[in-house]
Amino acid sequence: MAEFTLELNDDQKQVRDWLHGFAADVIRPAASEWDEREETPWPVIQEAAKVGIYSLDFYAQQFFDPTGLGIPVAMEELFWGDAGIALSIVGTGLAAVGVLANGTEEQIGTWIPQMYGDADDVKLAAFCSSEPDAGSDVGAMRTRAVYDEAKDEWILNGTKTWATNGGIANVHVVVAVVDPALGSKGHASFIVPPATPGLSQGQKFKKHGIRASHTAEVVLEDARVPGHCLLGGKEKLDERLARARERAKSGGERVKNAAMATFEASRPAVGAMAVGTARAAYEVALDYAKTRSQFGRPIIDNQGIAFQLADMRTRIDAARLLVWRASWMASAGKPFDSAEGSMSKLYASETAKAVTAQAVQILGGNGFTREYPVERMHRDAAIYTIFEGTSEIQRLVIARTLSGMPIR
Ligand SMILES: Cc1cc2nc3c(=O)[nH]c(=O)nc-3n(C[C@H](O)[C@H](O)[C@H](O)COP(=O)(O)OP(=O)(O)OC[C@H]3O[C@@H](n4cnc5c(N)ncnc54)[C@H](O)[C@@H]3O)c2cc1C
Repeated sequence: MAEFTLELNDDQKQVRDWLHGFAADVIRPAASEWDEREETPWPVIQEAAKVGIYSLDFYAQQFFDPTGLGIPVAMEELFWGDAGIALSIVGTGLAAVGVLANGTEEQIGTWIPQMYGDADDVKLAAFCSSEPDAGSDVGAMRTRAVYDEAKDEWILNGTKTWATNGGIANVHVVVAVVDPALGSKGHASFIVPPATPGLSQGQKFKKHGIRASHTAEVVLEDARVPGHCLLGGKEKLDERLARARERAKSGGERVKNAAMATFEASRPAVGAMAVGTARAAYEVALDYAKTRSQFGRPIIDNQGIAFQLADMRTRIDAARLLVWRASWMASAGKPFDSAEGSMSKLYASETAKAVTAQAVQILGGNGFTREYPVERMHRDAAIYTIFEGTSEIQRLVIARTLSGMPIR
């Protein structure tokens, strides 16, 4: 009989320790430099590729860990090192998962290797869904994909925004509208191959945090992609659209679309990133509180400081448990009947924001300067309550799931 345990197995511990070593020795020392430069940390990504952390193999191994803990453990360690650099390393994985989830075997075999390149010639990938007028409201998406039957090509037009690695990626995965009458059920995902004419980078954003991660608009102007770039293939799309039209005609029961289900499943991974940042800031604050003296004693001697640290650590551990529960459920094929994926992302991201703010406070004036890493961690933590669904959207998902009511 399987025993309940929260202990990682030996393989997982080994991977965790290896990643922690890379985060401590390579990522953390480079964090401040790339935050200031606000540029993609190519040398760090290359180093990650050399040791095998930036690779499809590594990502797939963690993704298919039967306990579900491969990805959250990896994310926590890498983001403990630095959130901006870690996102530059794992951003490609987010696009690769889009292909793994919706692509045919041939598409997976063709495009995912091109997303990563190899250790001597590293490449990136971008996942482009958000638009200027379609952030939380994915159904408002306007980027159009029109099929040119004569040439067996799709023509893409529209502007994507906030794309991690957008414009500098070798391969872009673009979500577009194929049937506007069906709302979000009329969306499909496309591969835009390297050097496709008509795809260009719009503005690159200057950000508050995770500044080593490149975020930009992606403009599509009559970008033509071959028919085989439609993820899942035309036959499957036509069947799916026919089913959605049938349901719409008959008044249709509400069925979660595939993209939303994928988001829900990927949210624990973002929760794990937030746990990594929160833990990093907590550790700096604990260390500082033990060594900084005022009034003739270490500041941790004051309950006002010690209790804050106790609360910080308790929240971080609670967040990790929610993340692990959701990750385990997803890998065991258990449905998120109570929106457990959203719960984990909501709680972990809010924890990262709160804990990093407390860390700044515990470091006093030093916490407010770029001499100490908690200032950067606090800026970085702000992203977690925004991307992959804001905290408000997570609460909506949870409340709707729990109540069965169309809460707005
Ligand atoms: C650094 C960064 C990287 C990103 N990377 C990617 C990427 O790689 N690919 C990609 O496709 N997207 C990416 N995003 C986009 C991200 O997912 C969106 O920013 C996010 O979904 C929110 O959309 P929005 O910014 O348009 O905000 P809006 O949807 O305009 O929301 C604004 C505010 O209104 C609130 N709000 C909206 N609707 C409701 C409601 N119904 N009830 C209550 N409150 C509501 C929101 O919670 C938020 O507080 C990235 C964003 C950032 C900042």
